[in-house]
Amino acid sequence: MNNKLSSLSCQKGFLNQEIVYRISENKPIEEIEITNFIKNSNLDDLLSFSRYLRDKNNSSKVISYSRKIFINLINLCKDSCSYCTYKKEPYTSEVVMLKPHQVLSLADAGKKLKCTEALLVTGERPELKYSEAKKWLNELGYKNLVELIAYLSEIILKNTGLLPHTNAGSLTKKEMAMLKSTNVSLGMMLENASEKLLELGKAHEKAPSKNPKVRIKSIISAGELKIPITTGLLIGIGEQLVDVIESILLIKEINEKYGHIQEVIIQNFTPKIGTSMYNCKPPSDTYFLKCIAIARILLTGINIQVPPNLSPNVYANYLDAGINDWGGISPLTPDYVNPEYPWPTINEVKTVTNSKGFNLRARLPIYPEYIINKNNLENFVAPNLKEFIEPLIDEKGLVKEDYIL
Ligand code: SF4
Repeated sequence: MNNKLSSLSCQKGFLNQEIVYRISENKPIEEIEITNFIKNSNLDDLLSFSRYLRDKNNSSKVISYSRKIFINLINLCKDSCSYCTYKKEPYTSEVVMLKPHQVLSLADAGKKLKCTEALLVTGERPELKYSEAKKWLNELGYKNLVELIAYLSEIILKNTGLLPHTNAGSLTKKEMAMLKSTNVSLGMMLENASEKLLELGKAHEKAPSKNPKVRIKSIISAGELKIPITTGLLIGIGEQLVDVIESILLIKEINEKYGHIQEVIIQNFTPKIGTSMYNCKPPSDTYFLKCIAIARILLTGINIQVPPNLSPNVYANYLDAGINDWGGISPLTPDYVNPEYPWPTINEVKTVTNSKGFNLRARLPIYPEYIINKNNLENFVAPNLKEFIEPLIDEKGLVKEDYIL
């Protein structure tokens, strides 16, 4: 056991030191051992261990974020999750179906503000449910949404140099392959691996695309295609702690096979007016902090992100729980998925990050380890994307500091 680790074990004598050692050294460990370790450890000890694991590979004390423009391409969706306010109906004034010139002008505005990510977000396969979505696509000359996203990603890349990252729900392997040459990474929340959430009255009762089997298949397909992916868990939607542990272990297992899961978002459920889960309680602080710590402890080599806007007054605490990233923050566009929770300014996030002794640095929508490691670069990045990535980064694979100034 190295000195730092043994001093952690001595200070935190209540943690099972054998398990601490095996996790720290990335040695095999059984699910039952992990579950018992978490059950038998108190929160403060888990948080200390989580911070230790984050800090041992972070000598420059960097906490990252992605400077992005949020392109809300179409907010119609064939599914209905019980907590969602993003999805709109075609007859409302809030419905959005952007045209390519609007997408480009948003990307241009992002470029002027030194964004490096163009986040393209849609509802789940809206064209399968809504004639309005089908008409919008047909008028633009496309049969399905992914063909349009591939075209938009290409023009964003070529005209602005912003790097596309698409989150369009559970894509098939064929669809993801269509995006590999224009998207540096893809995003899709697993939310939770428990099928219980599909049952009557539960969060995903009316959202077949949230069936974990569907989502896991998509995550595996991205792995087979060697596309870096961001996934994550939504905490507090009716799951139990054991479901969180199982979901994290599943993500770990998939990543050990494919090495493509660049980031896991641990996101807190927030009850929203107008949804059927409005009266449900958000996760308690202790439960949420424990979920963050478990993710950091188990997901060796994967970046752990919590969005700062969903916990406006307390997000500094997540640095104490071992996160190393704040996710995408836009200096211009709102968080259309959570418009009730505006992003803090990047300067505010910097102040909070500095107050805990860390440096805030911008990253691309593809994490440094997929760029500066030559093997990863060859395996996970389409050759044509390299010329767009290279001018933006420094030797650490982060956005050059003078690019943003
Ligand atoms: S959370 Fe996503 S899949 Fe669920 S209703 Fe909203 S847009 Fe659709």
